[in-house]
Amino acid sequence: MDTNQWLSTALMAASGISVFLAGYILLQRRACCSAPLALLLATSAAFGFGYALELVSTSLPSMLGWIRLEFVFIPWVPYFWLLFAAGYAKGRNPGILAAALLAIPPLAGSSIALAGRVVPLVFAEAWVRSDGPFPVFGFEPGPWFIVNTAWTALALSTGFAFLGAAAFRAAPGLRKQARLVLVAALVPVAGYLAMLADLVPWGLDPTSFTLLPIGALFSLEYMRHTISGLAPAAREAVFEAMDDAVIVLDGKGLLESANQAARRAFCLDDACAGRSLAEIMPERTELAALALEGKGRLSFRVAGLGGGAAEGADAYWSVRALPAKGPGGKTVGTVLVLSDVTEDERLLAKLRELASTDELTGIDNRRRFFENARHESIRASRKGTSLAAIIIDLDHFKAVNDRFGHAAGDAVLRESAKRLAEGLRGSDFFCRWGGEEFAALLPDTGLEGALALAERLRATLELEPVQCLAGPVRVTASFGVAAGVPLSSGWLDQLLGRADEALYRAKEAGRNRVVADAAEEPELRAAADLTTPSGGESNA
Ligand code: GH3
Ligand code: MG
Ligand code: MG
Repeated sequence: MDTNQWLSTALMAASGISVFLAGYILLQRRACCSAPLALLLATSAAFGFGYALELVSTSLPSMLGWIRLEFVFIPWVPYFWLLFAAGYAKGRNPGILAAALLAIPPLAGSSIALAGRVVPLVFAEAWVRSDGPFPVFGFEPGPWFIVNTAWTALALSTGFAFLGAAAFRAAPGLRKQARLVLVAALVPVAGYLAMLADLVPWGLDPTSFTLLPIGALFSLEYMRHTISGLAPAAREAVFEAMDDAVIVLDGKGLLESANQAARRAFCLDDACAGRSLAEIMPERTELAALALEGKGRLSFRVAGLGGGAAEGADAYWSVRALPAKGPGGKTVGTVLVLSDVTEDERLLAKLRELASTDELTGIDNRRRFFENARHESIRASRKGTSLAAIIIDLDHFKAVNDRFGHAAGDAVLRESAKRLAEGLRGSDFFCRWGGEEFAALLPDTGLEGALALAERLRATLELEPVQCLAGPVRVTASFGVAAGVPLSSGWLDQLLGRADEALYRAKEAGRNRVVADAAEEPELRAAADLTTPSGGESNA
């Protein structure tokens, strides 16, 4: 084969490969710059194809025929190069308006070629050169040749500016690629400049020879990184290292993959692959339902499976379901992200406990008491049952502190709380009301029952002195009792107010006694008066 035939065959092959790559990239559409890159390859291939046939032409008319075809595509090469560079650098394609404005020069160039005006507009004069080993196209540049050269120079340099910026700013993993693209792009430019400067023997144009391999290089580099390259590997590493358990289900809800945390927490092994959640975790029906839904959140508890500080306690999981999108934005599966929130729940429970108990005595504080009392009062109101309240105040407690010291006072408070709590029923509510005061709420209890209970409590306090380091301390308390069926929303406060008033009267009457709310019926008051103190004033 002659030199021109060799060159032509090589160009044809390169053009074919480029067309194949262009089709492949266009089908994959993995990144925003896929389309410009594919079209850059396609137009370069068309140019290469035309030049391959021009090289084996021997007469001027057949040469001009192929050159006409080449010039339909040549002005689009810089155009798509520019769009590709901009898309690559910015991560998104230029707007429609910018793309349309930039298309004006290549449209004009294509029109000239299609209209058969390559001579005289692109080439003022054309002839066949015979100074080489085979016939080569010779020409005198025409006006459009100059415009096309200017357009090419402008588009190429702007594209380089984009790529240069991208190479600077690229994430470390992609910096090498961005630099390679930048340097590789210089090769066809050098070819083009060499042709313009008439540095290539026999007036050959090396642009298409360099354009095609570099286009292929771009494509391979692009595919390597977006299809099987760094990004997926990095994602995989993050996926495996995550503390959260991640379960990936395919479009049919079958297990696709699970990261290490998920495999460990839910005992998933290879045998689980390709099976549904309902099969793998039959007890977690709510999880299977969420997976089916494809999006949303839920939380669940696993009895006795807590780890770490919550060893042996219940484990708590918070789950988020996300749709997994394919390249076209179509949902292809579901991702379940499961976070172990056991420790959070444990701390929350601890905080709740701290926020609702009294530090000194360990019994409920006033806040918790009111929460319970409000619920109880709503329940009693609905059922029409009686609710009783007892307010208890230790007698002459200031004197205990003064005589035995504050520590002894604390010990007496703790012991009193213990004895009172033990004297109450499991269904009763009890709290430290304030300083040396306590309150009890007795569900399903009338005044009579409450008075009897209060009297028993009073007796247990009085019966035995509290043994402190400072010695035995006698302790007594006064009790105010009220009861009734809840009516309005403010009723609970009124009930407690009435019990407090009764307590005041118990103090007035000499302390260490139980006094009923004065608003009650006379016969009940009479019953209350029966509970007179057995030991009179004490603690003093
Ligand atoms: P009364 O019989 O009228 O109730 O007399 P009292 O001395 O008990 O009443 P007062 O309200 O005058 O005094 C209550 C005392 O309780 C004053 C306060 O120092 C003491 N006190 C309140 N909270 C605590 C506590 O947590 N520890 C100790 N040690 N003393 C407390
Ligand atoms: Mg008091
Ligand atoms: Mg007191």
